[in-house]
Amino acid sequence: MIAAHPDDENTALLAYFARGRKVRTAYLSLTRGEGGQNLIGSEQGDALGVIRTQELLAARKIDGAEQFFTRAIDFGFSKTPQETLEKWGHDKILGDVVWVIRRFQPDVIILRFSGTPRDGHGQHQASAILGKEAFSAAADPQRFPEQLRWVKTWQAKRLMWNVFAFTREQEKEAEQLKDRIEIDPGEYDPVLGHSYGEIAGMSRSMHKSQGMGTFERRGSQKNWLVTVAGDKATKDVFDGIDITWARVPGGQPLGGILDEAYIQFDAQYPEKVVPLLLKTRTAMAEIHHPVVERKRRDLDEAIALASGLWMDATADRYASAPGGSFKVTRTVLARGPLAIEFNGKPLPHNTPVAVTDTIPAWTAETYSQPYWLREPKQGDTYAVSDQQLIGLAENHPLLDGKFHVRIGGEEIEYSRPVVFRYIDHVQGELARPIIVVPAVAVDTPSKALVFGNGTARQVDIELRATTGAASGQLRVEAPAGWTVEPASRDFELGDTDQECVLSFRVTPPDRDARGTLRATATVGGRTISNGVQVIDYPHIPPQVLFPPGATDLMRADIKLLAKNIGYVSGAGDQVPEALRQLGATVGLLTPTDLARADLSAYDAIVTGVRAYNTRPDLRANQQRLLDYIRNGGTMVVQYNTLEGFGFGGENTPALAHIGPYPLTVGRERVTVEDAPVKFEDPTNPLLHKPNEIGARDFEGWVQERGLYFASKWDEHYRPLFETHDPNEKPLLGSTLYARYGKGAYIFTAFSFFRELPAGVPGAYRLFANFLSAGK
Ligand SMILES: [Zn+2]
Repeated sequence: MIAAHPDDENTALLAYFARGRKVRTAYLSLTRGEGGQNLIGSEQGDALGVIRTQELLAARKIDGAEQFFTRAIDFGFSKTPQETLEKWGHDKILGDVVWVIRRFQPDVIILRFSGTPRDGHGQHQASAILGKEAFSAAADPQRFPEQLRWVKTWQAKRLMWNVFAFTREQEKEAEQLKDRIEIDPGEYDPVLGHSYGEIAGMSRSMHKSQGMGTFERRGSQKNWLVTVAGDKATKDVFDGIDITWARVPGGQPLGGILDEAYIQFDAQYPEKVVPLLLKTRTAMAEIHHPVVERKRRDLDEAIALASGLWMDATADRYASAPGGSFKVTRTVLARGPLAIEFNGKPLPHNTPVAVTDTIPAWTAETYSQPYWLREPKQGDTYAVSDQQLIGLAENHPLLDGKFHVRIGGEEIEYSRPVVFRYIDHVQGELARPIIVVPAVAVDTPSKALVFGNGTARQVDIELRATTGAASGQLRVEAPAGWTVEPASRDFELGDTDQECVLSFRVTPPDRDARGTLRATATVGGRTISNGVQVIDYPHIPPQVLFPPGATDLMRADIKLLAKNIGYVSGAGDQVPEALRQLGATVGLLTPTDLARADLSAYDAIVTGVRAYNTRPDLRANQQRLLDYIRNGGTMVVQYNTLEGFGFGGENTPALAHIGPYPLTVGRERVTVEDAPVKFEDPTNPLLHKPNEIGARDFEGWVQERGLYFASKWDEHYRPLFETHDPNEKPLLGSTLYARYGKGAYIFTAFSFFRELPAGVPGAYRLFANFLSAGK
C-alpha cells in the first residue's frame, strides 16, 4: 500500500491482508509526517518525524504489516501535486518508490489515493501519481539502472486503488464503479478473537502524536478495490497469482509437508510438529530462490516457537561512547520437552543458560543518529548516500547476538538484536535499542536566540556526562560582529548523568544580523559538537537524536511594550519561550488561573495553537476573558481548527464566541510561505506601534503563512492583511482586529508558532505589536 503520510494508510486493509490472508503486507509512506502538529508534546520537524516513524512501527506490530519510507519530507500542506513534486524532485522520490518495490517484490500494489484533486492534499495526489509511474518503472531496466547492482527489476501483477468515500456523493460514485472487488475487513477471526476492523482500531490508535485514537469497529465494513493497471482482477485481489508454494520452482513438496504440519498442529503439544518443520528445512536447502531465503528464516522462528526455545541478547547499558564497550549477555532457555544443544552442549530443561562477552562499541559509528538525519538535508528531501538504507523505517540494530543451536540433528543459527532491558516502576519491563553516544552531551538552546536590541545576554550551555566521568574544555564561537566571553571554559563531570551549566556572555552587533553560535567540547582528544535529545513516550521505545551543538542568532530591532503576558497553552507550541526572549514575563495560565486569578495583572493574554479545541476550561471562562478585554486588556488568539469544540462544526455558537463579536473559523489557509501580503488597513496603529511594520517583515517566513483563517466576521473587526496562495482568491481572514470596551482583541491565523521559534524577525515585530496594543 502506498500513500503519503503516517495515518493515510488503511489499517483495516493491512490487518486483513497480513493477519487474515497471511500474505506479506507493507505500507510505504512517502514521508514521516514531520510537517504536522504534535498533540502529545513540543517536538516538531525532525523529532516529530522520528516519533511518527515509531508510531507507524507500533501500529504495524498490531496489524502485522511492514513499514517503509522514501526520502521525501512532509513540508506541510500543499494544494497541488505539481508543487509537491517540484519540492521533492520527481525523479528522486519516484526512484525511492521503485527501489522499495524492487526490493519488496509485491504481487499487488494498492494506492490509497487516486492522483486527482479528489484526494485533497497535494502530497496525497503525488503519492498516487508516483505509485502509478513506479508500477511500470520498477520493471524497466532503463529506469534507475544504478539500483540494479543490488536488486532486479520487478513487475507487479496489478495496481489497484482502494476506493475511499468520505462523503455521500463519493460513496454513490464508488457504488457505480465497474469491476470493483469487494473485501470485508470486518470479518471475525476466531483464532485472533478479533475482526480485522477491531485490530485496525487498535493499530490506528498508535498515531498518538496526531490524536488519532479511534473506535475498534465491529461488524462488516466493506472496502472496494479497482484495478488501475496490469491484469484486471474480477473476483479477488490475487486473481491469476499463485500464492502457494507451487510458484517457487521445486517448491511444491514443501507446501505438502507444511500442510501436514498444519493439520497435525496441537496447541497443547506444539513440539510434535517440529520433526515436520525440520523436514521442510532440509527440503528447502535444495532450493535457491529469494522467497525461500526469507521463508527459511520464518521457518526457523516457527521451529523455535514450537520447541519452546527462547533466546535473548541484552547489554549491560543502553549507551556507550565511541571507544567504549558493551557487556553483551546471550541467554538461551529450552522450555519444551525436546533435546536442544547450544554451543555444542545440551540445554537443561527450563533453566536459562547465559554467555557474556565484552564487545567494543563500534568506533566507526558516528553516534546512533537515525540514518536519514546524518547528512544535511537537500531542500525538502533527506540525503542518504548509502542506497541500501533508503526505504528502511529505522536504523539496523547496533549489534546482533548470534545463537548456534542444534534441534533434532539440525544446526540452526538464530539472531537477536541486542537490547537493554530495564524496569519502569509503573510500566514494568521495558526494552530499548542500544546506541553509541558522545561522551558529553553539548546542549545549546534549541531554538533561535533573538536579540531585540543591542544589549548583551547570558547564554547557558548545558553539558551532561553520558557514559561515566568526563572532563575537558568547552569552546563557543560566534560569527563576525558578535562577541562571546569567555571564548572557552573548563568542565569536570564526575559520573554518568552529572550535569553542569556553563554561561557565556553574548553581545550582538548594533545592526540587524543573523548567524550561528557553535559550541564544541574537547574530551580526551575527541571533539564533540552534538547535543543529545531523548524522546520518551509510553507508546514507543525511547528515541535519541543528536542535534548539532549550534544555535541560530538573530539581531533585529523589536520593541515590546507588554511586560507581563499570560499564555493559555493549547496543543503545544514554543511561543512562550520565544516571547521570553524579548524580555517579557510569560506565565502559563492553568484552569484555576482562568477561573479565579486576577487577569488584569496581565498586559496581554495569548491563546496557544488549538487552545479552544483542547482546553474546555478556556471555553468555560470565555466571559471572564471578554471582561478582561472590556476593562482594558489585550487578547491575542492564535489559530484553532474546527474540531473538538463540543458543539458541532462551523457556524456553531461556540465558534462564534471565540471573539467578543461573532467570528467564524474556516478551512482557508495560505501554504506558500512567501505569498505576497497586502496591507488592508495601512493606517491601523497595529502596523506602526511600537514597531513600524513593512513589506520586509513578511520576508523569510518558513513553511506557510497561516492556516484556518477566519471565514466570516462581524463588522466590528478590521481585517489587517490580504494574502492568498498563487492563482487563488484573495483572503482577508488571516488577522482581525477589534476594539472592545477599553481593550483590544486580535485574531491571527498566521503561523507564529512556526515563525517565532525559527527566529523570523518580522514575525517577532508583528507579534510584539499585537501584544503591545493595549499600551
Ligand atoms: Zn495524509
